[in-house]
Amino acid sequence: MPEALDTKIEFLKGVGPAKAQALNTELGIFTVADLLSHYPFRHEDRSKIIPIIQTPEYTDIYVQLKGTIIPGEFQGTGAAMRYTATLRDETGQIELIWFQGAKWIAESIKSKTPYLAYGKIQAYRGHFNIAHPELQIIGVEIQLSQLGLTPVYPLTEGLKRKKVENKLLAKLSKQIVEDARFSMRENLPAAIIRKFNFPTKTDAIKWLHAPKNPTELDRATQRLKFEELFYLQLRHLQLKGTRNRTYKGLIFENVGAYFMDYYQKYLPFELTDAQKRVIKEIRLDMKSGKQMNRLLQGDVGSGKTMVAQLSMLLALDNGYQSCLIAPTEILAQQHAIGITEALEPLGLRVALLTGSTTKKNRNTLLEALVQGEIHILIGTHALLEDDVQFKQLGLVVIDEQHRFGVAQRARLWKKGTVLPHVLVMTATPIPRTLAMTLYGDLDVSVIDQLPKGRKPIITVHRNESNRALVMEFLKEEIAKGRQVYYVFPLIEDSPKLALQSLMSGYDTVSAYLPPPTYTYSLLHGRLKPAEKELEMQKFKSGKTQIMIATTVIEVGVNVPNASVMVIENTERFGLSQLHQLRGRVGRGAEQSFCILMSGYPLSANGKKRIQTMVRTTDGFEIARVDLELRGPGELDGTKQSGILDLKLSDIRKDESILIAARSEAEKCLQQDELLVLPENAPIQLELQKTPHRTIWSKIS
Ligand code: ADP
Ligand code: MG
Repeated sequence: MPEALDTKIEFLKGVGPAKAQALNTELGIFTVADLLSHYPFRHEDRSKIIPIIQTPEYTDIYVQLKGTIIPGEFQGTGAAMRYTATLRDETGQIELIWFQGAKWIAESIKSKTPYLAYGKIQAYRGHFNIAHPELQIIGVEIQLSQLGLTPVYPLTEGLKRKKVENKLLAKLSKQIVEDARFSMRENLPAAIIRKFNFPTKTDAIKWLHAPKNPTELDRATQRLKFEELFYLQLRHLQLKGTRNRTYKGLIFENVGAYFMDYYQKYLPFELTDAQKRVIKEIRLDMKSGKQMNRLLQGDVGSGKTMVAQLSMLLALDNGYQSCLIAPTEILAQQHAIGITEALEPLGLRVALLTGSTTKKNRNTLLEALVQGEIHILIGTHALLEDDVQFKQLGLVVIDEQHRFGVAQRARLWKKGTVLPHVLVMTATPIPRTLAMTLYGDLDVSVIDQLPKGRKPIITVHRNESNRALVMEFLKEEIAKGRQVYYVFPLIEDSPKLALQSLMSGYDTVSAYLPPPTYTYSLLHGRLKPAEKELEMQKFKSGKTQIMIATTVIEVGVNVPNASVMVIENTERFGLSQLHQLRGRVGRGAEQSFCILMSGYPLSANGKKRIQTMVRTTDGFEIARVDLELRGPGELDGTKQSGILDLKLSDIRKDESILIAARSEAEKCLQQDELLVLPENAPIQLELQKTPHRTIWSKIS
């Protein structure tokens, strides 16, 4: 079939070489198909016309007006030249103004002719105007009866300079979708289309670019969103399928002496039911003959580390080494200390490898690792270096995955000829829709229960006027033998400023709680790793009472005697970060407190974040609000996922479509793993196509 859709855009009416060139470079649009894949991001209802007398109510809003234009005059000269005219209807008049192309506008405006003017109403020095309105002559350029939903396309500054405007794109796509030569190839199986009563691909594209009514637009959007999410999920599931078909998993059949010994003699507490269930899930994975790729979701303090530790013992029982990768050096150190202590009685050798391990130590360590003398290796990204070779690596645990990209995970798989099992742990929970989108190729386990006897942390919001009382409260807690975290926001891109703010923060706090009566640890990004570790240890061992820190303590740090977390400038922190920080307390038997200090006034968003923190300690609920407030694109870890390529879907709002899409993708692959059946031909064709990607970075 000759592909009319491959027609180059320069052959379309209204697109000269210059405009085609601009569309090529700015948006990657070369062909008719590309143009149709450049979706509008919203539609305007152009059937609505506002009487001019009402325009003040629409200040800063785009509206459409109808009237005749009374030519006006030029003001200023050269670059400062502008042209004003007046638009008048039966109810009143408004000024139209042009700063560019004034001459041309002035010449082309026809008096006594009815125009439609479209633009943003602006208040300027006590009167209202529209700058650079879009003008159309009624009758010649447009019939009033044609007006309706008009698509609005993402555009770039570069395009606007080349006179490629929304009007042109709307006109082109309308012209294309109404031309039968350019019908689209169906890319969903017929069964799915029937089941959901979707329009065909051709109709959907037509109705998206040129809807006749809201119903058409709605049905088109539903289908195209489904399609987008269906392919995203299908790719995740295919990746998982390929992995399972291509690679054999290590089979860990034994629950041996290490696991049993530890479990029976040294386990410091009874596992929660949720921990037991998750360990069972991991055990089943590890003996299934397939490589485990599992995401472990659990709230702060739910005991993910113990699950990891027990899984590592299982690997050892089957003759394999493990490694654990943490996002920061501090956290890696903490894990190394904790796990070394825990496993000491079993005679196991645990080692730490980070960026600051000395060359000499590193060499000795690498040698012992490859000999199999080190059983468990703990560290940071430094573990990913190519020269870090194990004798037999059986399990990789990635802690607090948020900061770990998909690509990095892939590098790990390549260590050794047989792929190790992989367990990824989230720092805080993420909503199901986000998990499906980011980690759709992983199986998911959830620890949905905190260890017994945890008292919910009491969280309050305070401001400057309460400072003295807050400080009194800290004194009381310290007098009871408790310890306090005091956190200041990291000032991005400026370690120097961050340090300054930390120091002045320390001055403020120590004015109330003076040393040497009160003892301090100071932790910030400018310290060397060894210095950080020293400050941390002083606090951990109880030598210091107050830990003043930037967010370096955000994840994972565990000091059960600390019972108060004060966060300064709370409004500067994101929700999941606040939840992580708060999770540093409430780890012991005592009642813990979190005091959120903030400035005033707060933005609506900042207020909502603080209110959410005060209202709930449920990490899953907090994750939901976080996603709602920030949107998926701004969350950590989303950069490398397909989530940013979504053109229509918003996983905050389209959960039901996402779930349906996932389930259909699963069904397709279950029935036809390689998608070779004739009914799945539309899928095959789609997968072979390189998708048109919107170049978001350029869009203004
Ligand atoms: P996270 O899931 O945030 O990584 P951790 O693994 O650091 O949580 O565990 C938090 C604290 O709870 C640690 O001090 C740990 O020893 C303790 N803990 C873990 N599981 C249990 C349990 N079943 N009962 C009591 N305490 C537990
Ligand atoms: Mg942890």
